Amino acid sequence: MIKRVLILDGYTDEPAGLGVPPYIDVYPRYIAGAIWSVDKSIFIRYVTVDEVRSNIHAFLKEAQEYDLLIVIAGVTVPGKYLGGTPIKLRELDQWFRVITKPIKILVGPAARYGIGEEGGRIAELPSKIKENFDVLVKGDPELYVYELIRYGIEKANPYVVKRDYTLTNTFAKLGAKIITQHPNYGYNLIVEVETYRGCPRSIVGGCSFCIEPSYGLPLFREPRDVVEEVEALYKMGAKHIRIGRQPDILAYKAIDAGVEEFPKPNIEELRKLFHGIRMVAPDLETLHIDNVNPGTIAHHPELSTKALKIIIEYHTPGDVAALGIESADPRVIKLNNLKIYPDEAFKAVEIINRVGKTRGWNGLPELLPGINFVYGLIGETKDTYRLNYEFLKKILDAGLLVRRINIRQVIAFPATRMWIYGDSIIKKHKEIFKIYKEKIRREIDLPMLRRVVPKGTILRKVFTEKHVGEHTLARQVGSYPILVDIPIKVKLKQWIDVIVVDHGYRSVTGIPYPINANTSPYKILQMVPGISKNKALEILKRRPFKSRKELLKIIGSDLAKYFTI
Ligand code: SF4
Repeated sequence: MIKRVLILDGYTDEPAGLGVPPYIDVYPRYIAGAIWSVDKSIFIRYVTVDEVRSNIHAFLKEAQEYDLLIVIAGVTVPGKYLGGTPIKLRELDQWFRVITKPIKILVGPAARYGIGEEGGRIAELPSKIKENFDVLVKGDPELYVYELIRYGIEKANPYVVKRDYTLTNTFAKLGAKIITQHPNYGYNLIVEVETYRGCPRSIVGGCSFCIEPSYGLPLFREPRDVVEEVEALYKMGAKHIRIGRQPDILAYKAIDAGVEEFPKPNIEELRKLFHGIRMVAPDLETLHIDNVNPGTIAHHPELSTKALKIIIEYHTPGDVAALGIESADPRVIKLNNLKIYPDEAFKAVEIINRVGKTRGWNGLPELLPGINFVYGLIGETKDTYRLNYEFLKKILDAGLLVRRINIRQVIAFPATRMWIYGDSIIKKHKEIFKIYKEKIRREIDLPMLRRVVPKGTILRKVFTEKHVGEHTLARQVGSYPILVDIPIKVKLKQWIDVIVVDHGYRSVTGIPYPINANTSPYKILQMVPGISKNKALEILKRRPFKSRKELLKIIGSDLAKYFTI
């Protein structure tokens, strides 16, 4: 009889879904809901791998008090994370060997595919790790756990896959409560929400490297079901939501999905979805999206414009439509069955700019494109690097805005066409990859970031996350937030505003806003845009200021907006 369940979140990162803090992905919520749908009285404790690391001995002892231990793990598109460190192979090996009492199951991409390392093949889990678990769930974790609680381990099918969302919709609502146990709850926790899975392009085979077509044709959730889930999350205190778990938000319930490679955006259903969310969660502080197929925009520019406008009507600014352009080399595009040629991709970037570039209340444009490039694909030559660079340069020279450029090396999954190539092309182009990555960072990213958040921009509601030496790292909450390096120690877990004073390739330097002219140190005063070192010294000499008028005599009225006394 299962009465006590421990869920350990080792974090997940997949092409359509992020679960590294401050994000919480669908897995722990759906699983908790599945358990409570069978028996409300079952006790569930949720812990993250970072909490476990902080006291591993206590965790190993506590784990023996449970009947069931569920470990969620699997990073298939590894990135750099500020908010947490995903579970490592060594930890999967050492920790779960010594836990003996509960039934131990492993779920998520690690169980389904293995562990991904950038630039290569996904690696099957070593057998010594598999032996640490009673079951590796290859199907949908929530359905497996549901069967396990209901019928017992002998009868539960670890390969069970959903054919519709009926049960999952129920679990999603019931499991919302689990977010209250997340360490980022009450701070900057952002909840990843799913609207469908499967890619419309699976009818033409999909892209050579992508696993999404393995789900088949898109399986959609109804707007009402997503809205009810958001309502449950909101009632539990969720303030930040990303509608991020699907390959293309513009293809949500799209017309002719399953018939057309690029189905038409369904304006009515998108409105029902976003309007519905706002009706039940009016005070959400963040409502963002993630992936958009640039091919949908290029094939249906007018409908896509309408769809993007709907998103902007209900979302919060600083939003990003991450475009999987993947390559600007026509040969690579053809050989890998990618979705779009460079001229069409450029058009998609232009359209998003036209609709989304207005600056919102938090200092960022409403909605900007992000660009994803993948290297190491079939047919790649040294010329591919030049063509990709020239594509980005064309965007920069056209005065367009791009929020971020994601450059990654392909990871080959079994059952994709890329599998037989593995990392052979990556190895061949190792040196040129490094050269062009640096060139793009220096010649495209840096000027682009200066354009997206010019010096003097005030970024609102930045959350202070970590001290590094005497500096503080902070970010807004959302899709691809800009990393802010504050050159002084600011108390952690605070919401502050900052003035952008300098730019790196992928981060900005910011100082807390407003600047107190009577108390701020010289180091900060001389960083305020428009304040010279001499002027900063003069402020030091003349303070304390008793009125703004006194201060204005020194700094002038243009800079007054940055100061308080
Ligand atoms: S368009 Fe390509 S990359 Fe996007 S989900 Fe479909 S197959 Fe995957």
